[in-house]
Amino acid sequence: MSAPKKGDLSPSEKELFEVITAGNVQEASRLLGCKDVRVNCLDEYGMTPLMHAAYKGKADMCKLLLQHGADVNCNEHEHGYTALMFAGLSGKTDITWMMLDAGAETDVVNSVGRTAAQMAAFVGQHDCVTVINNFFSRARLDYYTKPQGLEKEPKLPAKLAGPLHKVIMSTNLNPVKMVMLIKENPLLAEVEALDKCRRVMELICEKCIKQQDMNEVLAMKMHYISCVLGKCASFLKDREDKLDGLLKSLLKGRDSDGFPVYQEKFIRECIRKFPYCDATLLQQLVRSIAPVEIGNDPTALSVLTQAITGQVGFMDAEFCTTCGEKGAEKRCSICKMVIYCDQACQKMHWFTHKKICKKLQEQREKQEAEAAKLRMQQNKEESKAVQDAIDSMQELSVETSSEVTPSNTAAETETSDPASTPAADN
Ligand SMILES: [Zn+2]
Ligand SMILES: [Zn+2]
Repeated sequence: MSAPKKGDLSPSEKELFEVITAGNVQEASRLLGCKDVRVNCLDEYGMTPLMHAAYKGKADMCKLLLQHGADVNCNEHEHGYTALMFAGLSGKTDITWMMLDAGAETDVVNSVGRTAAQMAAFVGQHDCVTVINNFFSRARLDYYTKPQGLEKEPKLPAKLAGPLHKVIMSTNLNPVKMVMLIKENPLLAEVEALDKCRRVMELICEKCIKQQDMNEVLAMKMHYISCVLGKCASFLKDREDKLDGLLKSLLKGRDSDGFPVYQEKFIRECIRKFPYCDATLLQQLVRSIAPVEIGNDPTALSVLTQAITGQVGFMDAEFCTTCGEKGAEKRCSICKMVIYCDQACQKMHWFTHKKICKKLQEQREKQEAEAAKLRMQQNKEESKAVQDAIDSMQELSVETSSEVTPSNTAAETETSDPASTPAADN
């Protein structure tokens, strides 16, 4: 098949653009199976089906097109817009992420020299800006796995790039989860490997600050990861219980309310140790955290997560009490006040949760009893209000029925009274 030309569309391709607009994934899937449909065909403006789907904010459609080999970096648009730019403009973080994950270049500029992040910022889609700034491709990390200049050995052994990239790409910044990710990989969970990774993180952090298009978000994330890696290395060196000891320290709640003080202090310290004092993001974080007493909201983790991942709905979704993963559903069967991903997370937390589980249970039971009492009171009040309303209606109907029939009056006033119709002018 020949290379697509602008506006040169087969009838089925024209139909494909239509079903994308309509959001009919099933029909799009059928059309993509047709012989005369090219997944990277171009409409008259040089837009591909993927660009259309991204701009319209249709995630399922984007997924389908990518599965069919849509070129995420196609740059035939008349103003040089890419699918990532359209995703950013749409304000959909999931689609923006999908484009990046499919290999979208972040530094491509449109015809007036703007990157996707700058375009998204221009239209106020800040969550998309954060997603773009927060993304770090495997290729950029792999740069450090090759000796540069006079180096005999690369800064990062190739075998560490995969596991380290996994840590970098995690949107869950809970240090417990990060330590779990490190611990699960024996290549990474080793002092020398951690030191190497830490140095690479610091180099990337420096680069993010010093590059022309400064990226403070990514710099902060890299610095934070380097701090977590450093902490892991020190526990591996100094402690007999190694990383399990670190997990315990991070999870241990204080006696009064189970708040993990060590974790809070650790994250605050990471932020404070950010080496570039002039960074706006650092000042913003410090301003949000400094006045908060330890144990109160917002926690350093929630402030940091918001700043780095722009995570929307951080408060109302269900997060694992242990590792902070989204979508946790298993509740502690005694207190029913904490939730976990699975039994492993619950087990890990039990040593500290058991001290306040009973207390939480009592609290909940008290709250429930109070809520039930309140509900009963409300019900009583409501039924009284209803009774009052019925009584007054009866009085009213007695009054009106003695004068005119209500149905007629309504019809008459509508047509005859000019004041009751909405004014057309002004
Ligand atoms: Zn968990
Ligand atoms: Zn419990």
